[in-house]
Amino acid sequence: MAVGSNIHPEDRIPRCLDLLGTIPETEVEAISSWYRTRPWGLETQPDFINLVVGLGTGLSPRDLLRATQAIEIRLGRVREAINGPRTIDLDILLFGDWISEEADLRIPHPGLLLRDFMLIPLVEIAPDVPHPDRGRPVRELTGEIRYRQIIEKRPGTGSGSGSG
Ligand code: ADP
Ligand code: MG
Repeated sequence: MAVGSNIHPEDRIPRCLDLLGTIPETEVEAISSWYRTRPWGLETQPDFINLVVGLGTGLSPRDLLRATQAIEIRLGRVREAINGPRTIDLDILLFGDWISEEADLRIPHPGLLLRDFMLIPLVEIAPDVPHPDRGRPVRELTGEIRYRQIIEKRPGTGSGSGSG
């Protein structure tokens, strides 16, 4: 699951992580470092914080999407401009070997291999996870990144540090 925020991220991201842990049949298994990234599209807005969270779930992909959309709303997400500022954006990157090409649920996420802020934190927490279309572990796919928006990996973040 990709997590992004550029409105009150210091407040919203920890709350979002807590809420992800309250989704039925779902556990937070891994949390990447926080990456500060340049906004995409609308550039006159604050930098983003992006990270990737590994979830274990018994839900279907659609039920998981519904649950994460409810979290977006609960944390005050207002859709104003496309690619504009947002309190929380939750995108499903991969769901095991599941593939879906429906407009309202694309898995693997179409940005996963293109955007460094999706792939790099995923490789940090799950380097060996296979990409279902490519049949190769995600750590071997970083050469496909087309958009480099990461400014820095913030020290002291990520599950290894204990500080969330
Ligand atoms: P974006 O994430 O592209 O900035 P939004 O968060 O507003 O934009 O998402 C718009 C729509 O994308 C949602 O209504 C959702 O149904 C759809 N969508 C398609 N695939 C996914 C996915 N893998 N994860 C999350 N949303 C997705
Ligand atoms: Mg989204």
